[in-house]
Amino acid sequence: MNNVLLLIIVFVLCMILVFIFYYFLFRKKSKLGINPKRIICPNCKKPLPFVRVPKNMRQALWGGSTCPHCGTEVDKLGREIKKS
Ligand SMILES: [Zn+2]
Repeated sequence: MNNVLLLIIVFVLCMILVFIFYYFLFRKKSKLGINPKRIICPNCKKPLPFVRVPKNMRQALWGGSTCPHCGTEVDKLGREIKKS
């Protein structure tokens, strides 16, 4: 009987861990999530400054920055933003 109870507790704990894991995955992909890792410029492969100065409204609202080395605009996940 004790073993069954233990199994249930372990199972519930695993489920909670999985939910937390998915929660953080979802947050990373959403626009409002924050990216604690340093962004590497996709063009010149240099790390961008950690403290960013937004250069336009989109950067101020959603994060991202402009590479000081080559001028490539990247979002907060380090993906290049094509200028249209
Ligand atoms: Zn660059």
